[in-house]
Amino acid sequence: MKALVLTKYNQFELLDVPLPDIQPDEVLVRVKAAGICGSDVHGMDGSTGRRIPPLIMGHEASGVIEEIGQGVSGWVPGDRVTFDSTIYRLDDWYSRKGKYNLSDNRMVMGVSCAEFKRDGAFAEFVAIPQHILYKLPERVSFEHAAMVEPVAVALHALSLTRIDLNDTAVVGGSGMIALFVIQLLKLAGCSRIITFDLDQDRLDLALKMGATHAFLAESVDIAQEVRKLTQGRGADIGFEVVGNTPVLKTVIASVRKGAQVTLVGNVSAEVALPLQQVVTRQLTLQGSCAICGEYEPALSLISRGLIVMDPLISAVAPLEEGAGWFHRLRQREKGLMKVILKP
Ligand SMILES: [Zn+2]
Repeated sequence: MKALVLTKYNQFELLDVPLPDIQPDEVLVRVKAAGICGSDVHGMDGSTGRRIPPLIMGHEASGVIEEIGQGVSGWVPGDRVTFDSTIYRLDDWYSRKGKYNLSDNRMVMGVSCAEFKRDGAFAEFVAIPQHILYKLPERVSFEHAAMVEPVAVALHALSLTRIDLNDTAVVGGSGMIALFVIQLLKLAGCSRIITFDLDQDRLDLALKMGATHAFLAESVDIAQEVRKLTQGRGADIGFEVVGNTPVLKTVIASVRKGAQVTLVGNVSAEVALPLQQVVTRQLTLQGSCAICGEYEPALSLISRGLIVMDPLISAVAPLEEGAGWFHRLRQREKGLMKVILKP
């Protein structure tokens, strides 16, 4: 089969590689669409240590089942599917507690690191364990299905946050996940959704997707603007969807006393925490990791047209052009959001 292989750091080759072997509990999926994730772009130069070449990347994808393993039940060739980006064990202590996103030794599709290597979906075929498969609703296209993962990540963050009807929310950052958080907050009944970012294009998108206010960071005092909108109190809930000190501090300064701040972004390993503000204003900080049961509701919301996706798709391109798109994304070309590759 044809595959886009990271053969060396920053170097891709379209190669003919053997079909993946499927285990008894796995299916072979013919890939129809696979999205390039920010983590792939960050990882391709070796800086994260999680894309050790040679590797076929790709963990946000959809396709059609081609073949099933001997032990597979409930799935047949021809089924349109998407799949979790991580492979977790079913017999893990956390999985048994219903928290499979926290289970030990999870493998991520399309990642290779010191602990494991698992080829991903930038190829004609990919092997997938049946317990991470999800059937696509009829009205969900393969391209949209390749973006279910970031929607589900956003939905997980909301599911960990206490939200009341008419709440005011502040969202730090307007990247892909944040834009889905904003859309979901609107669905959840928030009256004001305030976001800030350094990129005006993204703020414009955020306004189209349900943000009621979008501020260019560093041009205004955001916490003060939020207070003006909330009788001086601050927002009821906050989301940090970048993962750096300035954004975290701004979100913390923008919420009211007793608020919850949910932390999704993690580009930095460590940030400075305004401890006294958190303690004396009795804030709750909630980390949110990946996805735990949100694929099905995310697919349902997409199939009912409740999540806007098309403005976030910058290009749908053949796998052959993948290397070029990776480099354009790496150069942070203005306006580029999601690129979807089709084998
Ligand atoms: Zn991803």
